[in-house]
Amino acid sequence: MSFQAEALVDLDAISANVAVLASRTDAAILPAVKADAYGHGLVPTARACLEGGAVGLGVATLWEAWRLRAAGVTAPVLAWLISPGLDLAAAVDAEVELSASSHEQLTEIAAARATRPARIHLEADTGMGRGGVPEADWARFVETAAKEQAAGRVEVVGAWSHLACADEPGHPANAAQHAAFLRFLDAVDAVGLTPRWRHLANSAALLTAPDRHFDMVRPGIAVYGYSPIPGRDFGLRPAMSVRARVTQVKRLPAGSGVSYGHTFTTRRPTTVAVVPAGYADGIPRSTSNRAEVLLSGRRAPILGRVCMDQVVIDCGDIPTRPGEIVEFFGPGAVTADDWAEWHGTISYEILTSVGARVSRRHVGAAA
Ligand SMILES: *Cc1c(COP(=O)(O)O)cnc(C)c1O
Repeated sequence: MSFQAEALVDLDAISANVAVLASRTDAAILPAVKADAYGHGLVPTARACLEGGAVGLGVATLWEAWRLRAAGVTAPVLAWLISPGLDLAAAVDAEVELSASSHEQLTEIAAARATRPARIHLEADTGMGRGGVPEADWARFVETAAKEQAAGRVEVVGAWSHLACADEPGHPANAAQHAAFLRFLDAVDAVGLTPRWRHLANSAALLTAPDRHFDMVRPGIAVYGYSPIPGRDFGLRPAMSVRARVTQVKRLPAGSGVSYGHTFTTRRPTTVAVVPAGYADGIPRSTSNRAEVLLSGRRAPILGRVCMDQVVIDCGDIPTRPGEIVEFFGPGAVTADDWAEWHGTISYEILTSVGARVSRRHVGAAA
């Protein structure tokens, strides 16, 4: 199959990673497939997650939930980040579960003119300092929720929160947030609400804190095969390979400047290849003169600046011809964790930055 630059996504790896995660918990798995499934392609990835044993799917926005429903995905979908003024009635009628992350949001959801009660998950801020209702307002929040449920406008199916420091298992914030979450569950209980799904854990808590799984876990990065704690191996397999085909190979004499600004100059006669992926495709410009790619399975450095559409690599003594496949990252010797280190970020940002111009190709049983 011909391509210029593509993200090859192994859906079997996605399903296998979900199964690995399921084997580590009794809780139900709700994979986070927000941001186009961390760049892997929303719908095929969602289906692969369900094949692997997920009970439903977590997304940030209503638009993402809509895309799943429009594609015919009927599994439970929870959307947890919603601005005022959206068409909540349509979302409820499409059986999208909604997070109520503030008191105002709870009342807006309850007022939506849907044909059924809105299924909601009450979000507490237990110390993340981001979304969710702060502890001082829990009593009023859960009272309103109980009242709206009694009135038939909502059905409270979840109570949840999110951890700030789960990727540092020994961080004291984890125990503090866990304790606060138990207090929130007590508050929920005190007004007679009995949500089916209590959930707190992301990938890191799923993999390192079995006492924090409750009824459901929300892994993201681990589903895609990356460790939430780089350097710790949990038996997961990266699902995405970003590759491009060499457009041109040539020999440059010693003393040649390479790419914008001539930030690299050849010291000796050098065989270089032009590879058609650049910062518009998600290859961070900050990795100029630093990153390495795989050419015939061997590491080849990027020479000079990363451009918008292309990079120049040093072929060394690796025989290279136009059309040769260069792997930027994948399950092999160079991973998104390497790029994260070169760019000073986390694998999440590398995966979600793969550009729209890079074609996605899905392989595996679920494809
Ligand atoms: C993104 C996200 C997750 C998944 O986090 P990972 O660290 O990728 O496992 C879970 N819950 C919420 C609310 C999120 O926004």
